[in-house]
Amino acid sequence: MVEHLLAKEKVAGSIPVSRSIFISIGRRRQVVRHGSAKAAPAVRIRSSPPIRRDFTCRVFFYLCKVFLMRAPHSYSTEAIVLKRTDLGEADRILTLFTPGKGKIRAIAKGTRRPISKLAGHVDLLCRSQLQLAMGRNLDIVTQAEGRENFQRLRNDLWHMTCGFYLAELVDRFVEDQTRHYDIYVLLLDTLRYLDADANALQQQLASMGVNMDDTSKDAINRVPTGQQEGQTRLLLRYFELRLLMAVGYEPVLQHCVSCASEIRPEENGFRASLGGVLCPQCSRHWERRLSLDALKTLRYMQRVKWSEAARMRPDTRLHSELEALMYDLLRFHLERDMKSWSFLEMMRKA
Ligand SMILES: [Zn+2]
Repeated sequence: MVEHLLAKEKVAGSIPVSRSIFISIGRRRQVVRHGSAKAAPAVRIRSSPPIRRDFTCRVFFYLCKVFLMRAPHSYSTEAIVLKRTDLGEADRILTLFTPGKGKIRAIAKGTRRPISKLAGHVDLLCRSQLQLAMGRNLDIVTQAEGRENFQRLRNDLWHMTCGFYLAELVDRFVEDQTRHYDIYVLLLDTLRYLDADANALQQQLASMGVNMDDTSKDAINRVPTGQQEGQTRLLLRYFELRLLMAVGYEPVLQHCVSCASEIRPEENGFRASLGGVLCPQCSRHWERRLSLDALKTLRYMQRVKWSEAARMRPDTRLHSELEALMYDLLRFHLERDMKSWSFLEMMRKA
């Protein structure tokens, strides 16, 4: 019996195959030995038969195919519509500002047709949840669901113009496909403040007995006066300053941009091309004067939220000074005027 067992062991080799673990890496096979203290020749295991290899390859390629097929061809995103451009007879190209992808452009097919289901959800300034199919050049909007359309803002021409101005600013300053979540939040919050402003104005007019259903030219061109207009103008300056800060063009307000001396509480100067305030000793570089009130207002808006900045009550002179200064800065960085400026000016003079 013992002789018989020894004979079996001799035939199988010095190490029983059952005591080996096969590790397969691709088509290579290795044998890892356990429990064998003595040196012994590695057991050569015959490779898998061709049929089994063929089956493994097929499974591998099938899994690759399934994985590739699952690569997304569409995606969902929230977006604010910044701009619309006509395309062909019935389509539009939308410039969208999204929280995750930044500014993108997409085609909204058929949105110029009266029966379009998408049209109402992709109006200018609308915040919508969109489904987009990835296209070769531009993505295509396949579904849209409006979340906020700022209806009260749209009912008032002055506030609507302000809203379009914000959208134009973002469109000019933000590069395509660059994520700017902070600017997205800034734009959304500012549109909400404008909407609330418009609502306050409408309630004020209603309390004065103005017919809100009156669609005559005079009624539509209701330009807020006094304090309310001042708040909206201050909100625009706040947005401009915050936008410049977000894109890296924050004006220098703490020290002189020419000699680096600390700015003292007195009348100073300003030059947009130098990026900030100039002290009286560097008056040769002044482009415009900067009053102490304007300097304090800008510094305050640099560091507080709008809820705090909104408590300020600048007079008309200070509003004009801040506006001219911010326009200088924006014009310098954009190297052109904004389309909305002349319209906003016209609205105020109306
Ligand atoms: Zn100086």
